[in-house]
Amino acid sequence: MEMKENGKRIRDLVIVGGGPGGITAAIYAMRAALDTVLIEQGATGGQVNNSFEVENWTGTIRISGAELAQKFADHAASYGVRPIQAQVVNVEPGLDCHCVHLLDGTRIYCRTVILATGGAPRKLRIPGEEESYGRGVSYCAVCDGFFFRDKTVVVVGGGDSATEESLYLAKIAKKVILVHRRDSFRAGMILQKRVLSEPKIEVLWHTVVKGVVADQQGVTGVRLQSVKNREERLVATDGLFIFIGFEPNNALVPAGTKMNADGYVVTDEKCETSIRGIFAIGDLREKYARQIVTAAADGCVAALAAARYVEREKS
Ligand code: NAP
Repeated sequence: MEMKENGKRIRDLVIVGGGPGGITAAIYAMRAALDTVLIEQGATGGQVNNSFEVENWTGTIRISGAELAQKFADHAASYGVRPIQAQVVNVEPGLDCHCVHLLDGTRIYCRTVILATGGAPRKLRIPGEEESYGRGVSYCAVCDGFFFRDKTVVVVGGGDSATEESLYLAKIAKKVILVHRRDSFRAGMILQKRVLSEPKIEVLWHTVVKGVVADQQGVTGVRLQSVKNREERLVATDGLFIFIGFEPNNALVPAGTKMNADGYVVTDEKCETSIRGIFAIGDLREKYARQIVTAAADGCVAALAAARYVEREKS
């Protein structure tokens, strides 16, 4: 165990976030015999827990998100990873080591940090959205779909999430109205085909949601607008599910770290940020494809790079 001059313990690696990237990083770090701390404030598995089914995790044809998340946790545990349930409030870079501050005042000194904080659903920021959140407005079909059995729901978006979640909701709801602002989906071809052949899903192209209408019981409708002729109309619905992309959870990224205009962290091919010894992986990082498998790949790369970094620093 390495100690600082003042007697503080210096860990080799602190991983912030226990999604597929953070968990994979922890597994590789343990295999490299790094003195590793994994900190997660929510459920292990991160956003995977919100996926109904995962069909593109290599080697597994179909698995529920919750089951895959549990497998991740079990795999990490088999290497002795014991995630700390805590909230990180600051990551302070240093010259000889970095310091990770927890909400309860604990400071963890470490040679390297892997930021794996992922992203959060983007909000539409329309009137009524915030007020009706949890009362008909949702960002998670797996969490809230159950409440809409045999009801009508409106889904917004045209990507993998909106199409995948519409298909999930179609198994529960009476009708799903999928609202997209353009006339073609961004989603992968398989999802597009499934959506267009699902009789319970009606797609409204060139349409945006302008506002949420609700009463004391919750959402009763949405105000839709045609992008083409600006005409507005009220459509009755019991729920509004919003899947219009993600925003990176970059609050813990140290000031001065290179980021792109959308707030994603710019890294090199080792997933190292512009600050030495601090790595960013998964949905937080600027990259081409945000998938479970690419988050896991980032975790592997960053942990191997962190191991090399620690080895150099100690020699
Ligand atoms: P996304 O791919 O960024 O798609 C967002 C969609 O929302 C786009 O169709 C976009 O329209 C629309 N949109 C954005 N802002 C809007 C606004 N203000 N009003 C109306 N519509 C708006 O986001 P995602 O579907 O959440 O996926 C995020 C990432 O996770 C992607 O990389 C995706 O591939 C990945 N993912 C993968 C899977 C899977 O492989 N099974 C499942 C879920 C997510 P435009 O098309 O017009 O821009």
